[in-house]
Order: sequence, then C-alpha cells, then structure tokens
Amino acid sequence: MGGPEVERLIGLLAKLPGMGPRSARRAALRLLQEPETRMAPLAAALEEAARMVRRCSLCGNLDSQDPCAICADPHRDRSTICVVEGVSDLWALERAGVHRGLYHVLGGTLSALGGVGPDDLNLRPLLARIEAGGVAEVILALGATVDGAATAHWLSDRLRPLRVVVTRLAHGVPIGGALDVLDEGTLAAALRARRPAQ
Ligand SMILES: [Zn+2]
Repeated sequence: MGGPEVERLIGLLAKLPGMGPRSARRAALRLLQEPETRMAPLAAALEEAARMVRRCSLCGNLDSQDPCAICADPHRDRSTICVVEGVSDLWALERAGVHRGLYHVLGGTLSALGGVGPDDLNLRPLLARIEAGGVAEVILALGATVDGAATAHWLSDRLRPLRVVVTRLAHGVPIGGALDVLDEGTLAAALRARRPAQ
C-alpha cells in the first residue's frame, strides 16, 4: 500500500528503537498527512544532524562541534572523568545535572560471551587521557550488569597504577539495570554517594 516510497519509509522507521511495524505505520501516516508541518521539518533536521553531528574525538560524545561542548567548556572540572557505556548514559547524567567534570564514552562493555574485547571499545583512549595527567578521579558509571561489572573490574585494574582515585556509583542502580532508564533523582543520588571501586 502507498507504493515503494511509503514501504521504505515504514521499513526505516520500524528499525528505530522503541518502534515496531505498527508504530512505524502510524508515524509514517502522520508524516505523510502533514507534509509541510511534520515531514519537511523532520527531513531537514535529519539531514542537518547527519551532516553536522560527529563523535567527539576526546570523549566519544555526539555533538556538532569537536571537541564537544562539554569537553570545550572551560567551567567543567577537568580533574574528574565519568566513564559511561553509551551516549544515552551521558545524556541521562547531564539531565540529572550532578556531574560537573568530563566524560568518557566507552561505546559498550567488555563481553566474553559477545566477543567484545578492549580493542573493540573506546578504552585505550581513556587510558591515554589519564596518562596525559591532570585527572584525579575516575567515576565508573557503568550499568549493574555482568558485563558492566567485568568492565569496571578491568578498568580498575588498569587505572590503579596511574595514581587516580577510582569510584563507582552507589545504590540506586538496579542489578541488571542500565543507567539511562533511571530517573534523574536516583541517578543524582547514586553519583553523589559513589564509593571506591573494588
Ligand atoms: Zn567530548
């Protein structure tokens, strides 16, 4: 129905997180029915974002400037780096508004089962940032999953000889849970009550 253009639009929308075939059809229909007010602005925003937004070469955040606005902000505390799995976690912590330092996005976690090793993640650039000096504390804000814990352990071992304090989030992160689903208050409390990593 609607021709190959519509089928393609629905197919692409259905691949987005939180979307399935049914919600993709509804979204496509809304866009098609309001070409001027919905379709055109969305198409322009997608095109501009695809053209402008890049990974920050320092921390791995997504931004239209490199270094990203956080890395470039002279008011951020450069002695503290908060390590997160993904950009969504960075955004969640920024919404919570408790971390005034910098970030480092790993792009995932180590996973023996999934075959993800240190070189598959943005890990060695983190070690290089710390080895360059000026970092006093590294906060491991990783999910409370088996792989998140294994990644925190790997990082703690590597960071200990570099003379930095390594902390991790306290209570509030549910076992097996991701960071970006937590409400801002819980996330803020977990960061404030962080404790030394084992
Ligand atoms: Zn950055």
